[in-house]
Amino acid sequence: MRPLIVIGNWKMNGSLASNERWIKAVCKGMEQGMPAGRQFAVCPSTPYLAQCSALIQKCSLAFMSLGAQDVSPHVSGAYTGEVSASMLKELACSYVIVGHSERRQMHHETDELIAEKALQALDHGITPVICVGESFDERNSGRAVEVVRSQIAKQVTVLQDRLADCLIAYEPLWAIGTGKVASAELAQDMHRAIRLQLAEFDEDVASHVGILYGGSVKPDNAVELFAMPDIDGGLIGGASLSPQDFLAICQA
Ligand code: PEP
Repeated sequence: MRPLIVIGNWKMNGSLASNERWIKAVCKGMEQGMPAGRQFAVCPSTPYLAQCSALIQKCSLAFMSLGAQDVSPHVSGAYTGEVSASMLKELACSYVIVGHSERRQMHHETDELIAEKALQALDHGITPVICVGESFDERNSGRAVEVVRSQIAKQVTVLQDRLADCLIAYEPLWAIGTGKVASAELAQDMHRAIRLQLAEFDEDVASHVGILYGGSVKPDNAVELFAMPDIDGGLIGGASLSPQDFLAICQA
């Protein structure tokens, strides 16, 4: 049985004061009771990881953890601006997002680079959250499954059965930050297609991998999305900035 996992991606938002308010409010809300068997995490910007790590450790909820928004594919050395997986591990990161569409588009990240980043994370005991998804044009031209299959295929080639220790986030680009959420049926169809593709490689890997949905998830659409058999939780952008909305999604 795969656990339901909800991960907040704050992107380039936050401040020392607002992060503290958010974590205190979310921890307080979670202490009042959360559905059993779920896992939650928040991914702040890199400069705030140490602060958020300390605050999350202080509230000591076994099901609430920290994630990062990116990781270097390199171990260490002359890579100005990069952050290594061992540094993230020292800060107690349990997850790291790799291949978010914003990084694919604005930083020209390739599937090969994304797989290298995922490997670094795995080598340091951090769960990579590998993002895939098609653009509006790709969906409209009937190529959504083909595009996502090719993104997943590269991960299978590099990561092989280590994919069992990864999370995949299906995030259709046309739904990210637009308010246009994919219908639960459309998302389920893609999640199913991803799982079937993984099963072509290894049935065990396919049944273990958590596949999260991301793209304009809000408290009012989370229930329907999370009820789908192949949707194992969500990667939440905009709505994760509000502690109330994040809590409501975690409870969905
Ligand atoms: C995201 O950026 O990963 C995301 C899902 O954003 P939003 O929820 O704002 O669409």
